Amino acid sequence: MKKIYFDYAATAPTDPLVVEAMKPFFFEKFGNASSPHGVGREANKALEDARQKVATFIGAKSSEIIFTSGGTESNNHALFGAAENLKSRGNHIIVSRIEHHSVLEPAEYLEKNGFRITYLNADRYGMVDVEALQKIISEETIFVSVMHANNEIGTIQPIAEIGRLMKARGICFHVDAVQTVGHVPVDVGEMGVDLLSLSAHKFYGPKGMGALYIREGIRLEKFLFGGDQEKNRRASTQNVAGAVGLAKAIELASQNMETEVSEQIRLRQKLIDGILKSVSGARLNGHPEKRLPNNSHFAFEKVQGESLLMSLDMAGISASMGSACTSGALEPSHVLRATGLPDELAYGALRVTIGRWTKEEEIDYFLEQLPRIIKRLRD
Ligand SMILES: *Cc1c(COP(=O)(O)O)cnc(C)c1O
Repeated sequence: MKKIYFDYAATAPTDPLVVEAMKPFFFEKFGNASSPHGVGREANKALEDARQKVATFIGAKSSEIIFTSGGTESNNHALFGAAENLKSRGNHIIVSRIEHHSVLEPAEYLEKNGFRITYLNADRYGMVDVEALQKIISEETIFVSVMHANNEIGTIQPIAEIGRLMKARGICFHVDAVQTVGHVPVDVGEMGVDLLSLSAHKFYGPKGMGALYIREGIRLEKFLFGGDQEKNRRASTQNVAGAVGLAKAIELASQNMETEVSEQIRLRQKLIDGILKSVSGARLNGHPEKRLPNNSHFAFEKVQGESLLMSLDMAGISASMGSACTSGALEPSHVLRATGLPDELAYGALRVTIGRWTKEEEIDYFLEQLPRIIKRLRD
């Protein structure tokens, strides 16, 4: 049976070139980057080279990058670190309603601990309401978090516009760019962000490896205590192999970005057009144009998303309902709810995300299988 992976937004396979680049750091170059001896200095040099590459790719200085264990840690650190540091200035925090759970849950925690949280609405395309944001900002507002692109429906937000607004008001602005770094151009200067999260495994790097950009002058309360690694901003022995892998993944992505994006848009469009044409009662979620090149997301009338996923799986196709984290939950996704999609449609959600190794035959096979499966499920 064919095995087709259409869940690149949940995680991507590691590029073999990334694994090659990481290999020496498990063996001959295994050193602790904090050790002052030769083996340690060699590891430290690789770590700092990797930091420089990551910084360059997003338009930052290397001193503004800390390595983390992934997108979740970067987001948690951004919210908790900024809230703790800025609480003398105010207690109001704004996050969009469509954020990843690794932003929403820290916000909920902060809400139980003295902060006031306002959730910024999105329209039917999943685009946040910038005018509403302007209205809910107050003197008490210390922190705003809006993701660059949504992990479920792929909508890309007007980050630079929000960035200018936040700068004018002197509000700390965090962006979860886990879905965009390595996929579309990301420049912290142009976007006007103070904090930005990224994660290697979403762009063919290793899992458990990420980074947080912290603009010079922004202070975050420490999150992991212990050693004074990462200029005393994150304790724990540094993951040199992971950092090297992250840097290699970012380098490969930047080299191939233009061709990769245009090919993915071509395949993705073929998939969207094919589904909307061949399946009745299907709708595309997310923005028709302002969306991730590799993302498509549908809602099907009179179909149970869970059964659809199982049938697809039996046909060798791995897809998802939305975020990997909500699959298996019985609640419809908070993102779809925020776009106003009725629950009965949200239950029939399907996210198809393609990637570096997606072949046209796979799209064709999918377009052949899906209408049959849906027909069978509806019968
Ligand atoms: C995957 C994802 C995360 C979590 O990143 P991990 O590295 O898996 O912890 C956070 N935000 C978004 C938008 C994501 O897609």
